[in-house]
Amino acid sequence: MSSLQKLSDQVQETFSKSAANIFLYYDGEEQNKVIEEMKDIVEKNCFVNAKLTKANEVIERITELHSSDDNILKFKDILEEYKTEMVKIDPDVSRDINLVEFNRQVKDLLKDTENASDAQPLGDSDDDLQFTQDTVNVIDPFTKKRMTDPMKNKTCGHVYDRKSVNAMLKVNPRTRCPVVGCAHKEYISINNLESDIVLKTRLLKKTV
Ligand SMILES: [Zn+2]
Repeated sequence: MSSLQKLSDQVQETFSKSAANIFLYYDGEEQNKVIEEMKDIVEKNCFVNAKLTKANEVIERITELHSSDDNILKFKDILEEYKTEMVKIDPDVSRDINLVEFNRQVKDLLKDTENASDAQPLGDSDDDLQFTQDTVNVIDPFTKKRMTDPMKNKTCGHVYDRKSVNAMLKVNPRTRCPVVGCAHKEYISINNLESDIVLKTRLLKKTV
């Protein structure tokens, strides 16, 4: 994984954490307002990233073009060419994986908020709780304890607590997913783990 990719992943994780905090500490109108601002920031970040990638491609193309002929490089000409090419770049980020994933997390968190406000006045909220506990796994497969900082394995979708999976990988970097019946036999890679913000918020709010 390139350092640029790593940095981009870290930035994205920070965005997700901020979104989770918004759902924890804001409500109602204010929550909506801040979350809309957040979505806007994430979209702009995706746009800048996409533009940077394209810019690098333009630079490579121009460099190749000018290194192949024997003419003396005219910096001004190259700069003009670069500017012309850059103006043409207008990436469509609507299907950017980071943006799509962020919006999905927000949607899930929003659904939780709506469910919580719906469930309270009803008498059968115990049934709802039972249902949630049955369907959402909150137990770390390594320590068999309730998770506090869940990390999702992007390869298979299973979730582990950050502390225990990190400790495990430190002792044995060749660790496979410990979930019984997991079809993926590859070793767990730290690069494939991402913070499960939606579950973390649910654990914090004790809705699961
Ligand atoms: Zn698994």
